[in-house]
Amino acid sequence: MADVTPIILPRIVLRCSSERDMAIRQTAAILPDMSHPIHSAVLIPGDGIGPEVSKATLRIMEAAGAPIRWHEHPAGLAALDQGLDVLPKETVEAIRQHGVALKGPCTTPVGRGFASINVSLRKQLDLYAAVRPVRNLEGVTTRFTGVDLVIIRENTEGLYSGVENEVTPGVVMSMKVATERACTRIARYAFQFAQRRNRRKVTVFHKANIMKMTDGLFLRCAQEVHDREFPDIEYETMIIDAGCMKLVQDPTRFDMLLLENLYGDVVSDLAAALVGGLGVVPGANIGEQQAVFEAVHGSAPDIAGKDIANPLALLMSGVMMLNHLAEQRNDANCRQVAERIKAAYNRALADGQKTRDLGGELGTQAFADAVIARLR
Ligand code: ATP
Repeated sequence: MADVTPIILPRIVLRCSSERDMAIRQTAAILPDMSHPIHSAVLIPGDGIGPEVSKATLRIMEAAGAPIRWHEHPAGLAALDQGLDVLPKETVEAIRQHGVALKGPCTTPVGRGFASINVSLRKQLDLYAAVRPVRNLEGVTTRFTGVDLVIIRENTEGLYSGVENEVTPGVVMSMKVATERACTRIARYAFQFAQRRNRRKVTVFHKANIMKMTDGLFLRCAQEVHDREFPDIEYETMIIDAGCMKLVQDPTRFDMLLLENLYGDVVSDLAAALVGGLGVVPGANIGEQQAVFEAVHGSAPDIAGKDIANPLALLMSGVMMLNHLAEQRNDANCRQVAERIKAAYNRALADGQKTRDLGGELGTQAFADAVIARLR
């Protein structure tokens, strides 16, 4: 929620006008612009590389003047360590209250009966649309140039229903669920997104030739929403195996991809590899009332605590959060800060300031320093 924080200005004794000018300029640089609202947001630092990339992201956002007051809450192993549930009720309530959250990756302990934190959070808050922009970045050389994709993933059903059972010893089943309501809702979200952002085409990846009922329904709903409400946006469908082949042959032929839950998960990582890997793909989980912004990558325990993780994916998720606030709360300042951060990380990358995953040598915090040094 937007609120206004009173700021106590420090007493400064000024001896001459040049000192005064300097003090005014320095004060202007460090104080938030009080003509704009301050937004409250939840921060979940997460597990593994989460705390490191969260720290780097917050330092950059603060240096850029992001008008955010953070409320930190735990989830995952960090919550268990504090004797709390893996996804504490208080954390979910805080997101309900503040409306937006920036979330680091959380580890769900394996084989101890815990439901996935990400899946529970998405279900409890009904964050039905995952939005994942996949774009080439300046200074990051990859096989293809001109990749500019947006992946829209249905976030609440499919094989993530969590309904699994043992039919008889040695025979187990997992239930794939599709509802007309969720399929129609995600299709409408994708086409509305396309319309708002002047995107030209939506491609659905599916396997309706095998899963005739579930993927068949997903496909039918997308087709109906297209024909009824968005006939001017180009629409195509592709069987997912052929679609993946085409995606790695030439990703520039795609504009937006619309996928059910599991396909969206797999194709997001595949697409990330086309633009430099998991370190550079941000994400948003959008619901009617709340939105949670998080990188596509997980907690990467293999590199945790070593100051080598790339904080860009979470930083870019923070930029998406600022743009979301700009759009939802009509706050142009948030958009300006988002642009300032984007320009700074693009300058850093173009100058060869990169973390190891992108072929550079910088550590997590040194990369954050390089971005902060290029904020204008
Ligand atoms: P989780 O179990 O939480 O999903 P994971 O082990 O599956 O985590 P991911 O985080 O999804 O792993 O990433 C797979 C690999 O990609 C990691 O092991 C890591 O080496 C690399 N990776 C992921 N994120 C980053 C990052 N931000 N910076 C650098 N490398 C990363």
